[in-house]
Amino acid sequence: MSKKSVIIIGAGLAGLSTGCYAQMNGYESKIFEYHSVPGGVAAVWKRGDYLIDGGIHFLIGHKPGTPLYDVYSEICDIDSIDIADMTTYLRFVDETGTKSIEFTQDIEKLEQDLIQIAPEDEDEIRSFIKEINSLKGSSLLTDMGMSTAPPELRGRFDSLKEMWQMRGFMKYFMGKYSKSAVEYAEHFQNPFLKTIISYLFSPDGPMWFVIMILATVASGQLGLFKGGCHTFVRSIEERYKSLGGQIQYRAKVEKIIVEDGKAVGVVLADDSEHRADVVVSAADGKSTIFDLLGGQFIDDKIKKRYDTWKTYDPMSGVSLGVSRTFDDEASLNAFMQKEPIQLSDRDVPLVYLRIFNHGDVFAPEGKSVIQVILETEWDYWKNLRENREQYENEKNKLAQDIIRRLEKIYPGIAGQVEKIDVSTPYTTWRYTLNDKGSPMGWLMTKSTIMEQIPRTLPGLENFFMAGHWVLPGGGVPSSIYTGRNVIQILCKRDGKEFRTKSED
Ligand SMILES: Cc1cc2nc3c(=O)[nH]c(=O)nc-3n(C[C@H](O)[C@H](O)[C@H](O)COP(=O)(O)OP(=O)(O)OC[C@H]3O[C@@H](n4cnc5c(N)ncnc54)[C@H](O)[C@@H]3O)c2cc1C
Repeated sequence: MSKKSVIIIGAGLAGLSTGCYAQMNGYESKIFEYHSVPGGVAAVWKRGDYLIDGGIHFLIGHKPGTPLYDVYSEICDIDSIDIADMTTYLRFVDETGTKSIEFTQDIEKLEQDLIQIAPEDEDEIRSFIKEINSLKGSSLLTDMGMSTAPPELRGRFDSLKEMWQMRGFMKYFMGKYSKSAVEYAEHFQNPFLKTIISYLFSPDGPMWFVIMILATVASGQLGLFKGGCHTFVRSIEERYKSLGGQIQYRAKVEKIIVEDGKAVGVVLADDSEHRADVVVSAADGKSTIFDLLGGQFIDDKIKKRYDTWKTYDPMSGVSLGVSRTFDDEASLNAFMQKEPIQLSDRDVPLVYLRIFNHGDVFAPEGKSVIQVILETEWDYWKNLRENREQYENEKNKLAQDIIRRLEKIYPGIAGQVEKIDVSTPYTTWRYTLNDKGSPMGWLMTKSTIMEQIPRTLPGLENFFMAGHWVLPGGGVPSSIYTGRNVIQILCKRDGKEFRTKSED
């Protein structure tokens, strides 16, 4: 019997993951990717001798003994990828440069350091630290319920099973840790501590996620790609190809062909038509549903999601190639500013600095890449881009402002800058087509995290969706798991046992 064919739109992590599992389960798959390289938002690029890593900041669950590690192992040679343990999550420095605190693996020290900074908040600090300790080492950190069945495969007992698995976590969906970081920060009196708590991750993201990240660091399960995030992407692409999968780059899908309520193929931008038994979109959710499918397969829930849900704020990145090293510095630093950075209509109170001193591929010897990340506005950059000169001027202005601020922290650095690269939300959109340049899809909130988004659309057969637009909160694990889910559903419908290895 000939194999069922599957077309996958997008070679980001979700598309590649879908492709790997499709091949393992006896489907013949082909990925059409708009860009010239795989990875989607997990992207790196060269600027002279410098390698700019504009993608994944850290990988959760990179070491054996976690459900996530097992899943990574299914789709790539995770052991051969050089990953450093992130032993310090973040160093936070106040605006005078005199007070600082490091969020390291050592939770007891962190508790003491926080109490020293804010003795008036001792009780709240102790309960915050207690939560980190109680999650340390938990498999929930590297699974978060993602291994349970997707909505399409849920039986009567699956929700109960999930609730049981997640029981240790349920308390975080209510009470103070379900608040956004900025709201939870109000539980503290000390102004410095309030700012620290608000900006440990995203001010709008839930506080339990921050606790989870710190517990992951404490468990030694947060990793940094020593060779850049593309080493991970390329390893998955290699596995996919070795399983017999095909990828066509520079192939933008313009339309999904639907006949008799079934997806039967795609039309590319060059007007070529490609047919398959199944179509999976691992591309941007909005353009898939409303452009490629013309908005014909939606219900009230989908409409509400796309009308009202918040996406992660897009980012600007100012990357600098500098002729100096930062040997003993933390890889992630937050420097509070006396004068906030003014970007669009926002005041950004700190400089978030990533230092790429965890690998030697980013810069020639004796030099380094550093990168300042700023959450910003899509509309602002999109409108600016309509006038190319203005857009470039604004990018330049931002870079100069950042260099001026860094000069105060690292005197002499302004004269050591050899390369400047500024990316904006428009850059993210231009290379990945993610709506409003969102880096991770839907923002994780109290209500979105409870929502099960199906991997299918109502009224459309033989069609599936994978990626960070079908699992609120997005991120690497979600993208990989949702690709796995799609093939699990397909296997179930085809009466096959789901495999996680090659059939050969
Ligand atoms: C700067 C940054 C840092 C991050 N840090 C972390 C982190 O530390 N930890 C973590 O877990 N996650 C992180 N993330 C998020 C994580 O990288 C993403 O959620 C995940 O990689 C998304 O993968 P995806 O395959 O779902 O989507 P995408 O990466 O968006 O892939 C979609 C692909 O589809 C292609 N495509 C779109 N439309 C079409 C079309 N019409 N035709 C053909 N192809 C199309 C795109 O070109 C793209 O390659 C970060 C993201 C960014 C941007």
